[in-house]
Amino acid sequence: MKEIKNFINGEFITNLSGKTFEKRTPIDNSLIGKVYEAGQAEVNDAVTAARAALKGPWGQLSVVERVNLLDAVANEINRRFDDFLEAEIADTGKPHSLASHVDIPRGAANFKIFADTIKNASTESFEMRTPDGRTARSYGVRVPRGVIAVVCPWNLPLLLMTWKVGPALACGNTVVVKPSEETPSTATLLGEVMNQVGVPNGVYNVVHGFGPDSAGAFLTSHPGVNGVTFTGETRTGTAIMKAAADGIRPVSLELGGKNAAVVFADCDFEVAVQTVTRSVFENCGQVCLGTERVYVERPIFDKFVAALKQQAEAMKPGLPNDPATKIGPLVSQEHLRKVLHYYQKAKEEGATVVTGGGVPDMPDALKDGAWVQPTIWTGLPETAAVVQEEIFGPCCHIQPFDTEEEAVRMANDTPYGLATSIYTQDLSRASRLATRIEVGLCWINSWFLRDLRTSFGGSKQSGIGREGGLHSLEFYTDLRNVMIKF
Ligand code: NAD
Repeated sequence: MKEIKNFINGEFITNLSGKTFEKRTPIDNSLIGKVYEAGQAEVNDAVTAARAALKGPWGQLSVVERVNLLDAVANEINRRFDDFLEAEIADTGKPHSLASHVDIPRGAANFKIFADTIKNASTESFEMRTPDGRTARSYGVRVPRGVIAVVCPWNLPLLLMTWKVGPALACGNTVVVKPSEETPSTATLLGEVMNQVGVPNGVYNVVHGFGPDSAGAFLTSHPGVNGVTFTGETRTGTAIMKAAADGIRPVSLELGGKNAAVVFADCDFEVAVQTVTRSVFENCGQVCLGTERVYVERPIFDKFVAALKQQAEAMKPGLPNDPATKIGPLVSQEHLRKVLHYYQKAKEEGATVVTGGGVPDMPDALKDGAWVQPTIWTGLPETAAVVQEEIFGPCCHIQPFDTEEEAVRMANDTPYGLATSIYTQDLSRASRLATRIEVGLCWINSWFLRDLRTSFGGSKQSGIGREGGLHSLEFYTDLRNVMIKF
């Protein structure tokens, strides 16, 4: 069983309190690690180390020197690809095919892309006449914000953490990361990488624990933190925003969603079915951008439901390393209980269960894992809980529509506004909908296709701020104006 320690000021440390918690793998619920929970003392140490590092050698590096270090971090993750892969798979149970194509390569790429961004970022400059007939020239300078708290979820642990740590470090900040209690391993492993490539002590720190009364709350309310970037549930985002209000610290929030796919009768049917299958079931439905509401134009409704049912029933659950495995378990027993609660609720509210609705029959060795069936419902009103609330499981409700107007109205009937995907051959209609559906991210005839230079974030209760490419600089730097009179 591994021991998962905090990483503070370049060292792996336990804690003063002696408090630990268990990490179990969702594959079979066996114990794989003991995690040392950071208390207030360890969080204080991590923030102190991060503050000191701002003034140490890290603060003196040129942009090019910083960029070279970040390139080295990316290369070292790739060199230790198998270690990261093994750790991520053990923590999440996700299939090898997914973790090796998405989580780990994207985790490394996040350092490269923001190294490139910062190398090429410019600022504004203006010139004007002064009342006494002289000239004044102003220009913008981007300075690091300071110590950034990075609070992460469990669904794409390395990828979503480096999505924040990459730009934070590229901009010259230092970070204290609080990974999810469900997935502590890869953030810890990244500490070894930082030491290996020579990132100065205190630049990257990791504290383990939970939210309230634990490392998450201690970190986000710490006065030594200059900004908080968070990915997770909307409810947690609300608590974090309140904590950050003390001291007027800025927040960047990437929160929950209840994303709609809108499928028109003129779509490329195969593309729509294949892509919606991915957007509903990939990562066992635990993708913030995933689809939980599908609206299908009536003439193809029955055919579409039948095709998605066929896809869902072909998703074989199994061990991560088995090439036949198409779907892994949910992340934990606790999350399994939440998803099954919604499966039950759908039945109580009168859903037609097209497929799934329970737990799959697994071999004895895997029976204690967090396995759940891919599930499709039809026939519910738009007010039903499973149509309104984020479930974060491999499930969707499919509803027919007759007019574009009706599809837009139903897609927008949610407090969330993260992502949507639209399937049609009519690009005029698609671009009309792209402006009318209230989201931060809109895909047309595709899903989860990312160009990391573009903006990423949610509207309405799905978040505040945009990250990605140059947009990340808005949060990770402070823009200072300098004016010279001559
Ligand atoms: P969560 O909000 O439960 O936890 C996220 C992190 O916050 C964890 O590290 C947790 O320990 C910490 N935390 C919890 N309470 C806290 C508090 N009061 N103060 C400080 N920290 C606290 O989310 P989760 O269950 O880990 O992740 C799933 C959620 O994340 C879903 O809602 C999903 O939509 C969302 N998500 C959003 C995006 C996006 O880009 N918008 C991406 C991935 C996941």
